[in-house]
Amino acid sequence: MNLLLMGLPGAGKGTQAERLAESYDIPHISTGDMFRAAIKEGTLLGKKAKEYMDSGNLVPDEVTIGIVRDRLAKGDCKKGFLLDGFPRTTAQAEALEQMLAETERTIHFVLNIDVAREELMARLTGRRLCRDCGATYHTIFNPTDVEGVCDKCNGELYQRDDDNEKTVGTRLEVNISQQQPLLDFYQEKGYLRSVDGSRPIDQVFKEIEDILSEVSHSSVVS
Ligand code: ADP
Ligand code: ADP
Ligand code: ZN
Repeated sequence: MNLLLMGLPGAGKGTQAERLAESYDIPHISTGDMFRAAIKEGTLLGKKAKEYMDSGNLVPDEVTIGIVRDRLAKGDCKKGFLLDGFPRTTAQAEALEQMLAETERTIHFVLNIDVAREELMARLTGRRLCRDCGATYHTIFNPTDVEGVCDKCNGELYQRDDDNEKTVGTRLEVNISQQQPLLDFYQEKGYLRSVDGSRPIDQVFKEIEDILSEVSHSSVVS
């Protein structure tokens, strides 16, 4: 199954993607995670991406499209994939359609996790990640059993540099302005399904599972 997860920063894409990738055994491809890994490794890609990420702006399309093209060409994507945080512009969406068509693939579903803007600041400023396994938590909405320690691997939790009020403000503005044309693009193609992301994490996951079980019972997915 080839899936896209859409939603504003903080909507819960990463949280749901972790669970979906495990349940459906497909790779979770997050452009944000790939950029952060490149920054950590000090690669040229990381150097290119860092200034944009630090200011809350989008990394240029040609850079972003290039890394997704390379990732989707890997063997593990043959069984399906889950894209999280890509595409974020219509140019990226068009490039994705083209690269999938070249390899005779298509998207099966675009899941838009819908959360009101007012809820997102609190979600993002309280977000914590595990340094070792990348699991996502929240200080209030999804706390770990022991403060500062990952439930899954005992790794240390940290806060992303861009999860501060100032950068979050810019990220929300940038993503809101890009969002509607993208939703329209996928609505027209008939791929789009919206999920109420304001509910608790387990309920959102259940709603997504219900949508996907409908899909896998239809003829869309082989
Ligand atoms: P979130 O969904 O919480 O905003 P991500 O981890 O997806 O965060 O993205 C972090 C940053 O990485 C973005 O603010 C942006 O600078 C960059 N980025 C991620 N995905 C894309 C993309 N598809 N196009 C351009 N920039 C991106
Ligand atoms: P995204 O990848 O869309 O930016 P995340 O999955 O990282 O979003 O979630 C942002 C923050 O909100 C995290 O701290 C996460 O634990 C929390 N969160 C995710 N889903 C929910 C939810 N349904 N209700 C409350 N908090 C949530
Ligand atoms: Zn961990």
